[in-house]
Amino acid sequence: MNQNILNNAREAYQNAEAILVGAGAGMGVDSGLPDFRGKDGFWKAYPPLAKLGIQFEEMANPQWFITNPQLAWGFYGHRLNLYRKTIPHLGFELLHKKHLKQKTHTFIFTSNVDGHFQKSGFKEKQIIECHGSLLHLQCTQLCGYPIWPVDSKIEPQIDSHTLYAQEPLPACPECGSIARPNILMFSDWAWENKRCEIQKLNLQNWLNQIKDKNLLVLEIGAGTNIPTVRSTCEQIFHSLGDSFIRINLRESECGINGAISLPMKAKEALSKLMEGKGR
Ligand SMILES: [Zn+2]
Repeated sequence: MNQNILNNAREAYQNAEAILVGAGAGMGVDSGLPDFRGKDGFWKAYPPLAKLGIQFEEMANPQWFITNPQLAWGFYGHRLNLYRKTIPHLGFELLHKKHLKQKTHTFIFTSNVDGHFQKSGFKEKQIIECHGSLLHLQCTQLCGYPIWPVDSKIEPQIDSHTLYAQEPLPACPECGSIARPNILMFSDWAWENKRCEIQKLNLQNWLNQIKDKNLLVLEIGAGTNIPTVRSTCEQIFHSLGDSFIRINLRESECGINGAISLPMKAKEALSKLMEGKGR
């Protein structure tokens, strides 16, 4: 890593009065969450699905809640349990500390569904979860009952050999149909996006509030495969940003004038940015 580049990144980070954090899967991997890219990583995390030959893109489909709800809830229930018991890594804490101690205006745009920014202390109003949240549920039949948070008492019991969840499965309090996580899956025409729409308004308000501040767009671990986080970060940088840092171990290239690329892991890069004054 070129020391000058790192110094420039550190300066941009320390001088920022406002930070838009754009976070993708790479942010969660450093907390020990599994990487679903490529079938090897996915099947290593879910041996019963390897046996059945089901890949991530096939499993992350709302049809399973109709055709095999016990397997659907086995897969998502396992992830729910995992996200709950995993502690977000130091990078989350460092970002939150900067927000609190240096009064840096911070907003999070994340494709991660693990709720780990909330767990690190950020408020609901500071976060867009553009693919939804596994800690929230919706009715599979869209009966009109609004999205609700998963009851902390619900802890799915899952058979480790079959990945089947024990019944009774979570159900809609209004109509009794099976419930599903309020996350955007593949071929998903029934994702309830109301929560995300409210979050988008919060981002608009935040951008209006900070338009005279020195804004850093800080993109972390967001890949090109599903480019929502990357394209949002680039768009906000072009319209309002003063500096742009892309942290990405495998895809750090930037075609953006003045942008700083750090080909590093999330936790390491965030720790390096905090070194020196202002810690
Ligand atoms: Zn319902």
